[in-house]
Order: sequence, then C-alpha cells, then structure tokens
Amino acid sequence: MLRVEELTKTFGKMTALDRCSLRVERGSITGIIGPNGSGKSTLFNLISGILPATSGQIYLEIDDSRAVVLNRKAPYQIARLGVGRTFQLNRVFKRLTALENLMAVKFDRSRALELLEFVGLSSLKELPAGNLSIGQQRLLEIARALMLEPQLVLLDEPTAGVNPMMIQKLSEHIARLREQFGVTFLIVEHHMPFLLGLSHHVVVLSAGQKIAEGTPDEIRSNPKVIEAYLGDAT
Ligand code: ADP
Ligand code: MG
Repeated sequence: MLRVEELTKTFGKMTALDRCSLRVERGSITGIIGPNGSGKSTLFNLISGILPATSGQIYLEIDDSRAVVLNRKAPYQIARLGVGRTFQLNRVFKRLTALENLMAVKFDRSRALELLEFVGLSSLKELPAGNLSIGQQRLLEIARALMLEPQLVLLDEPTAGVNPMMIQKLSEHIARLREQFGVTFLIVEHHMPFLLGLSHHVVVLSAGQKIAEGTPDEIRSNPKVIEAYLGDAT
C-alpha cells in the first residue's frame, strides 16, 4: 500500500536518505532497522510530509485502483489520506487526561473509549497522561494515532524508554491492532528481538541506503546486517 522509489533527502552536504526504495504490503507489519543516523526518522518525516523530499517518489495506494503521490502534500492532507504516526520522542499532552489526549484529535468519545480499552488503559483514562509510565504513554500515542482511523501507521522507536516487561505487551498490542483494525504498520526500531518478532518484512538502512531486506530469518543471518550492527548489544 506504500511504495517509496529512489527517495533522497539531503541537508546541505549531508545525504540523510540516499535513493531509498521500499514497499509496504497492505495488512503487513514492515520493520525498519539501522544504526543511529541511518535515515530512519528522516524517511518517516518524508512519508508523513513533515519534510519535503529532495528527490524520489512516495505513492500511497488508496484502494485497488487508486494511488496518490504524497510528495508535496501537507502533513494534515497525508493524515486525512489515512497515514498516522508517532514520534521518536514521546509527544503526549502530559497535563491532559489519557481520554482527553485521544479526544483532542477527534471528538469521538466512543472511539476513544474503545481504543483505550483495546490498549488496556481504560482504568487510567481520567489520569493526566504525564502520570502514566513511559510504556503506557507509548500505548496512548499509538491509540491516539488510531483515532483518525488510519490505514497505515508509522511508529518511530515505540520501545524507546519502555521497560522490558512492557515491551512484550507493546508488541502484543501492535499485533492485535493489526489483526482487529486491519491497520498496516511501518515500524522503526532499534530493539532487534522486538522488531524481528513482530515484522513480516524487514528493511535495513545504513548511512541512508537500503543495505538489505527480507524476512526476519533472512535478516538475522545476513552478514551485512551483522556487520552494520557489530558491537551493538542486539
Ligand atoms: P535515525 O532516525 O536513523 O537515527 P535520522 O533520520 O534522524 O536518523 O538522521 C539521519 C541523518 O540526518 C543524521 O546525520 C542527522 O543528523 C541528519 N538530520 C536529520 N534531520 C535533520 C535536520 N532536520 N537537519 C539537519 N540534519 C538532519
Ligand atoms: Mg530516529
């Protein structure tokens, strides 16, 4: 449902993303891994319209017969076309309650309550979001991204700052959201066991370039990936 072709982003002389091409199948969970600074967040910023691409194309399939070019569309237009996202740094509204965080996106109390129930935060719905654990705030952000009924959701490092027990829960929730809401996920993540356990297809970036892609098993045994991660505690 998403096709990225030869996508490039430069910042001055620095090439953050270098002719990167990838595809996301509808209904799948696609993972993106790569060392720090390899262009993962930049890719998300281009897809969601936060930054303009230097060159290359981004196509979003709306249905079987229609695809739209996302380049040069504003973030709100891309959101309305069905692409939701979360950010690497947590952006919950800390002084609003969990419920208000969702209702701030769309005034639909029933959907907000349904999503809170779904991610197991119902009993905390009246608490200020800043009082939730980091893992709970991550779940709240994912629920918030789902308020607009997106077809595709981009998650940027959802496990960052989350404790190990909660990471497992997060993984289960994402898998269930895919199954029950039919959401397609594109997930950037450092945590290899989390990402390889959850994804159907994995893309590996290094210095802005795609150096490998395949199933989690193919990625685990790929020498280029092992090399890119050598010395990393993954
Ligand atoms: P990752 O998410 O894989 O860690 P990023 O996409 O954040 O990597 O960054 C890729 C490279 O682009 C890094 O060298 C980073 O410093 C640079 N970069 C990212 N965003 C900007 C920006 N807005 N302005 C200048 N350089 C940037
Ligand atoms: Mg990043």
